[in-house]
Amino acid sequence: MKHLRVVCIFLSVFSAGLLAQNNFTVGTTTAQPGQKATGFLEVPAGVDAATSIPVAIIHGAKPGPVLALVSGAHGTEYASIIALEKVIQSLDPAHISGTVVVLPLVNIASFEQKVPHVNPADGKSMNRFYPGKPDGTQTERASYLITKQVVERCDYLVDYHGGDLDENLRPYAYWPKSGNPKQDATTREMVLAFGLDHIIVWSDRPKDPNASRYLDNTANTRGKPAIAVEAGYSGTVQPEDVALLVNGTLSLMRYLKMLPGVPAMVEHPVWFGKIDTVASEQPGIFYPLVQRGTYVEQGMKIGYVTDYFGKTIYEAHAPAAGVVLYICGVPSMKKGDTVANIGEITTTP
Ligand SMILES: [Zn+2]
Repeated sequence: MKHLRVVCIFLSVFSAGLLAQNNFTVGTTTAQPGQKATGFLEVPAGVDAATSIPVAIIHGAKPGPVLALVSGAHGTEYASIIALEKVIQSLDPAHISGTVVVLPLVNIASFEQKVPHVNPADGKSMNRFYPGKPDGTQTERASYLITKQVVERCDYLVDYHGGDLDENLRPYAYWPKSGNPKQDATTREMVLAFGLDHIIVWSDRPKDPNASRYLDNTANTRGKPAIAVEAGYSGTVQPEDVALLVNGTLSLMRYLKMLPGVPAMVEHPVWFGKIDTVASEQPGIFYPLVQRGTYVEQGMKIGYVTDYFGKTIYEAHAPAAGVVLYICGVPSMKKGDTVANIGEITTTP
C-alpha cells in the first residue's frame, strides 16, 4: 500500500511535468510552455448571432496550477476590465509556474454599446446563466463554452466585477462558503491573499452544479476554488481601483506559488454576514445622501426620490446598521431598482 502510494506520487509528479511540456489551448488560442498567446473563444450563431470572446493564455515555463481570470461579464464595469488588460501585459511566462487563462471582456456587446448589466444581444446578465446551454441564447451559449473550456480545465478561478455605470461602489470581495471545509479553507485564504479588506460571506449559493447561475459558483460547485472581487464605480477607471485588482491578482498568484514571493494577506478584514438591498418604492429622480463606504445606522435616511416636479415621493432608509457597499450613482430610478446595498458586519467567520 505504502509502496503503491509512492508510485502514484511519482506518476502524478511525472504527469504534471509532462503537462507542463504540453501546449495549452482555449478556443483559437494555443500557447506553448513559456509563451503568451491571444485569440478568441468563438461562440457560434444559434437562435441569435455569433460572438467572439477574447482569450489570453500565459503558459508558464514551469509546471503549476491553471488559474482562470475572468472579467467583463458586465461590459461597463470598466476598472475590472482594464485591470485584466494590465495583467495580460505584465505577466511574463518565463517567471510563472503554471498557466493563467485570462478572459478580460466576456460581454463585448455591452462594452461597445455602453449597455450596463446585460448582454444587449439577448437582454440577459452574463453572470446569471451558468453553466449555460449549447442551444440557448447567446449568453447561455457563451456561458456553456466558458464552463467547458475554462472552468472545467482550471484549478482556481477569479471573477472580476465592479460598480456598473449606475453603481457608486466601495471595493469588496466575496468569500463563497460552501460547507465543504477543505474548499472553504482554500477560498478563505484566496480571498485574504487577494487583499480587498471588505469581504462578504456568501453562504446561500446554489449547490447544484447544473444550476450554479454565477461563474464563481460554477467553479466552486465543480470543486475548483473560486472567488469574486469588485472594484471600480460609475463608469470610472480610477488608478487606485485598477491597482487594487492588479496587485490582488499578483498577490493571489504568490499565494498559489505561481509567482515567487510572499502574498500580502489582509490583516484586518471587515466581514459581512448579510447584505440588505434597499429598493425604490417609486420611479423618479434619485438623490443620494451618503457615499459608498459610509457606515450608516439603522433607520438613517440614505437618499430620496422626487417626482419630475421636485416633490419628494419616497425616502430610502437603512434597514440595518452597516456599510454602504454601493449606492445608486445616477438620478434615473425605476420602481424596484436598487437604491443601495448595505453590508451588515459580522464577527470573524
Ligand atoms: Zn458585474
